[in-house]
Amino acid sequence: MHASIEAGLRRPWYRLRLPPALEAQYRAETARGSGVTVQTWLAVFALFNVLSLVMDHDVFGPEAFRVPLLLTTGVFCPVAILAIVSLRGRPTMLRMTAAASATGLVDTAIVLNSARLAPPAHTDSYIVLAAIVPLVVGLIAPLPFRHVVAYCTASLALYAGLILAFDIAGPGQTGLPLLISGLIIVPLKLGYSREWEAKNVFLLGLREKLQAEALARANARLTILSETDSLTALANRRHFATCVEQAWRASAEEGGWLGVLLLDIDHFKRFNDTAGHPAGDSCLIAVAGALASAIEARGGLAARYGGEEFVAFLPGADLAGAIEAGEAVRAAVARLALPHPGLSKGAHLAVSVGATAAHGATRAFGVTAKDLLKAADLALYAAKAGGRDRVAALAPAANTNRPLADGSAASDAP
Ligand code: GH3
Ligand code: MG
Ligand code: MG
Repeated sequence: MHASIEAGLRRPWYRLRLPPALEAQYRAETARGSGVTVQTWLAVFALFNVLSLVMDHDVFGPEAFRVPLLLTTGVFCPVAILAIVSLRGRPTMLRMTAAASATGLVDTAIVLNSARLAPPAHTDSYIVLAAIVPLVVGLIAPLPFRHVVAYCTASLALYAGLILAFDIAGPGQTGLPLLISGLIIVPLKLGYSREWEAKNVFLLGLREKLQAEALARANARLTILSETDSLTALANRRHFATCVEQAWRASAEEGGWLGVLLLDIDHFKRFNDTAGHPAGDSCLIAVAGALASAIEARGGLAARYGGEEFVAFLPGADLAGAIEAGEAVRAAVARLALPHPGLSKGAHLAVSVGATAAHGATRAFGVTAKDLLKAADLALYAAKAGGRDRVAALAPAANTNRPLADGSAASDAP
């Protein structure tokens, strides 16, 4: 798309058509337009014709004047009014061309009829006037170039046909009509330049729109990158900090609980030292997957806190809910059955979990999201101290460093 826009903008002056897909889009977008411009110009055009009756009166005299008067008021004006009325709202380009062409062609025929009937001294004036009509229509109607070509061809055919059929210019007097009809080049050139410019504006607009879309996509990608941990694809610590603050505020506003878990892989240094760093990375990814499944199933958000530590919050979870979720995570990691080569034979990778929860109402008494994380950290410390591969819990109030629960499930539970 981008390449064809650039190719379109670089097209030579003689190539009006855009590359196919762009041409189709341009036509679809410009198939309709506001009829007001053409309507007002047609009204001015009609007014000018009515005023020209003064000239007709002077040329024809009071008797013969009836013919142009009748043709102007009985044929031209109804056609012009019909054309103006037909352009209400957002008419198609075809309708605009039909309205402008009908008005123009009828006028050409009427003026040439006056040229035929007028005293010889005034014939040339009417021949010139008739040739100016397509010029005016070409100027006033912002039509597609192909429509301008169709109208100008019809107008020229009518002009030449009537002049030759009725010998209006007089025997052998084709010089003036020929010269004057050459003026048709003006609306043609104008129509061409107008469409050329309109297409360039369309292409530049499209390019700007695509660039804005690409920038928005890149920004969205950057936002995701800045919020995601590259190894595990979990939320990173910074994003978690923002989200947990929001969740804690929401708990306060809605009067609900918020549970927080902090996880740490047991004896991970030994795992790395024996299995190697790449195997350690694979473990982190696997544990992150197990954690995310358990937490997301409970409507929470899990993140990598750093190194082999993970964190999660659970809206609506009280302390029992947080412990239950912690147990679910611990069990999910156990189900992974990842062998730990650094421990005794047959040992598997395990995690310790610190759990906490607070009611949003305590926010009014100064309990912060940081206090929840601190309590979870203390609980995790307790889980480690208690023998690892277990969940320990603690309430997040000041001076609450006493474990409230210990969901031990490990063989080395105290
Ligand atoms: P504990 O049971 O007390 O938590 O013992 P531990 O060995 O897990 O604790 P420690 O904090 O001493 O070790 C953490 C190790 O985690 C150290 C480092 O080798 C490893 N680690 C941290 N980040 C990464 C990582 O991105 N990839 C890998 N493979 N290892 C990591
Ligand atoms: Mg650690
Ligand atoms: Mg550890």
